[in-house]
Amino acid sequence: MNKIIDGKSYAKKMLDELESNISSLKDLGINAPGVKVVLVEGDEPSKLYANQIVKKAAKIGMNSELLEFPADFGTENLLKEIKKLNDDRSVHGYMVQFPLPKSYNSDLIRSAILKEKDIDSLGSENVGLFYRDKESFVPCTSLSMMELLKSYKSDLAGLKAVVLGRSYVVGRPVFELAIKENMTATICHSKTKNINEEIKQADVLFSAIGSANFVKPEMLKDGVIVIDAGINFVNGKLVGDVDYDACLEKVSAITPVPGGVGPVTNAILLRNVYRAFIKQLNEA
Ligand code: NAP
Repeated sequence: MNKIIDGKSYAKKMLDELESNISSLKDLGINAPGVKVVLVEGDEPSKLYANQIVKKAAKIGMNSELLEFPADFGTENLLKEIKKLNDDRSVHGYMVQFPLPKSYNSDLIRSAILKEKDIDSLGSENVGLFYRDKESFVPCTSLSMMELLKSYKSDLAGLKAVVLGRSYVVGRPVFELAIKENMTATICHSKTKNINEEIKQADVLFSAIGSANFVKPEMLKDGVIVIDAGINFVNGKLVGDVDYDACLEKVSAITPVPGGVGPVTNAILLRNVYRAFIKQLNEA
């Protein structure tokens, strides 16, 4: 069996299917799903990512638009824009690019995002539903990690998962997904003592720490499955948290960086737009 869990082709399949569904809807005279990305100027990587999402959405036939606001736009004005998006029936899903500038009240912004349109699952209501096992959007990167794992191995019950990173965006939701799959999970962070011993226990290692080539082969149990969300640049080259080339011999399967978790995360975000659209269409 191939050791490399190919996120690029997994994402392509998903996007091809979305494109074909949207095209069939258009043939029936139904308008395309509408998605907006809200960006407050200031963070260059966020801007690149936002533009990438808008372009990808347009490529598969969605109506997509980047809404860009100056850094001094302010929380109150941004809340008004969010209200407009919540009320606009041609917008089926939208995402707000975090982090916002420090002067913004990010909690207020998160609370204002309508759960039905919260494709990135960063709004407070969605987060609550997710942790209460209710129907919700699932944070895209963590779902991408889990879907890629399940594309390689479907029965995960009882396996030991070790998650590196405890952020609300990636580490914690992937830990939650692991326990929802009946895995036995441990979460590690920068204050974890004897992190190498923890990592050595893993049947599945999920990494989201943002530290280039942090995980070395001697830290791993033979036959571990590695799912690496890390995005790091070393001399201009994109690498993960796991020293991919060195660890290849040791693993039974691994996601590459680039071409693993990243493309699937983006595809899941657009799949969420499509799902939100279908739900809103059925409820109209
Ligand atoms: P974050 O908010 O900075 O969180 C990083 C986490 O890693 C923290 O919990 C931190 O511990 C922990 N950590 C950092 N260095 C560590 C070390 N040496 N040992 C153990 N734990 C360590 O980052 P994030 O937003 O979760 O993102 C994590 C990585 O995923 C980044 O590389 C990011 O670019 C990438 N990412 C990828 C995607 C994708 O789609 N591929 C999407 C989002 C993020 P403390 O809590 O103790 O500080």
